[in-house]
Amino acid sequence: MSTPIPLESLLRQNPAAPPASTSNGQPRSNGNGRHIGHANGNGHGIPEIELPIGPPLEIDEPHEAVDLSTPRHTWGKKARLLKAFLLNRPVWVTWQVTYNCNYGCSFCTYWQNDFKPHEENSLQDFAMGARKLSELGSLIVSLAGGEPMLRRDIHQIVDVIARDHFPYLTTSGSGMTTKRARQLWEAGLWGCSVSIDYADPDKHAQHRGVKFAFERAVKAIEQLMEARTDLSYQRVQIISVLTDDNLHEMPKLCELARKLGVYWQVQPYSVMKTGNERQRHLRGATEVLLDLKRRYPETFHTNRLYLERFDEAVNDGISGCIAGRAMFNIDNQMVVSKCVEFNLTEPCGNLRSEDMRTVLGRLHEANERNTCTACWYSCRGEVEVLYEPRGFLNSMHSFLWQSRRQPGLNGVSQGD
Ligand code: SF4
Ligand code: SF4
Repeated sequence: MSTPIPLESLLRQNPAAPPASTSNGQPRSNGNGRHIGHANGNGHGIPEIELPIGPPLEIDEPHEAVDLSTPRHTWGKKARLLKAFLLNRPVWVTWQVTYNCNYGCSFCTYWQNDFKPHEENSLQDFAMGARKLSELGSLIVSLAGGEPMLRRDIHQIVDVIARDHFPYLTTSGSGMTTKRARQLWEAGLWGCSVSIDYADPDKHAQHRGVKFAFERAVKAIEQLMEARTDLSYQRVQIISVLTDDNLHEMPKLCELARKLGVYWQVQPYSVMKTGNERQRHLRGATEVLLDLKRRYPETFHTNRLYLERFDEAVNDGISGCIAGRAMFNIDNQMVVSKCVEFNLTEPCGNLRSEDMRTVLGRLHEANERNTCTACWYSCRGEVEVLYEPRGFLNSMHSFLWQSRRQPGLNGVSQGD
C-alpha cells in the first residue's frame, strides 16, 4: 500500500484569466452550454478549483426501491452483443453520469459546471435507460462525465447497468478508495480507465488543473488492481489524451502502465471541447504510436487500425463517422444524441419519455446527415475500426473470447 495523498495538497491555486471565446471568435460551449471560458485553455497555469474532492451527490432514492431485472449470464450478454453488432445495431453507448467535475483540465470545460443532484439522472433513470438499451442487445456502456466518482451511488449505477450490459468507467482517479473500487467490481464493472497524460507528475498536475493529480491517478490504479474480484475479465488501464506537447511522453506512459501491470490506451484531443486549435496533436504521432504498439504488445491495448489514422485525423479529419449508428450518447438528463458533443445542438430524443425505437430512428437520421469530422476520440474510432475485419479481430474478438489477460505487475500475465 502506498502512502495516502495529503488532502492539504489540494489547496487552490491562482487562476489564469479565462478566454471568453474560442479561437474563431465563437462563444465556448460544451455538453450543457453553460460555459463562458476556460482558465487553463492554453495549458498554462492551474485554475481555481472550488471543491477538489466533492461533494458527492445525494442518493435520491434507495437502491432497493429501484425495479431491477435479474442479471444475465456473461455469455448470454456476449451473445447479445455479438448479435447487435451483426445486425448493425449500436454496440457502444457513452453515458454521462454527471457533468460536474472537480478537476480543471486544459482541454475540457466541464469543470465549470454546477449541476445540482436533482438536475442529473436518478438511479431510476439509469434503470429505465438500461432496460430500453436492452432492446438493442447487451451493449458496452462507457460511464463518463464529468467525474463519475463524484456520484456517491456510482456502484449502484454500475449494478443497474451490469445486469444487461458491460459497464466501463473513466475517471481521473479522484475519489477512488479500495472500498469503492471493490464495490464497483462487485457491482459488475467490466473495466476502468484512469486518465494520465504525462509521465511527469508536475506536468500532469498542471494539465489537469489540480495538484497531485498524477499521484492520485496512480493510487487509484493500485486500489482498483488490489480490489479486483475476478481477474479473468476485470481490466484496469491508463488512458492518455494526446495533445500538442505530450507525444514524447507516450513511451514513458506506456512503460508506466507496464510497470503498474495495467493496459494503456491513447486518444487524441478534440478541438470540440474547448475550441483551442493549438492543442491538436502533432503529425508523426502515428509512427510513434505504432512503434510503441510493436514494442509493448501486451500493454498497449489500443486497436492498431485506430492508431494508423491519427495523422490523417489531424491533417484532414476522417469522414464517415459512425455516431448515431454504431454508437451514441446519453447525457445527464437522459437526452440521447449521436455523440457527446451534440446533446444540445442536435438532440435525438429523451429516454425518460420516449421509446428506444423512436429514438433510434432519429439517431439513424442524424447519422445519415452527419458530415462532422471533428474528432478521432476512442469512442468513435475504436468502434469504427470494428467494422473492418482486421479491426474486429484486433478488438471485438479479444473482448468476446477474453483471449487477452491483464498483463500484471511488470508485464507478468495474470488471470485464471
Ligand atoms: S477532462 Fe475529465 S477530468 Fe478533466 S475537466 Fe473534463 S471531465 Fe473533468
Ligand atoms: S466526428 Fe463524430 S463522434 Fe466526433 S464529434 Fe463529430 S459527430 Fe461526434
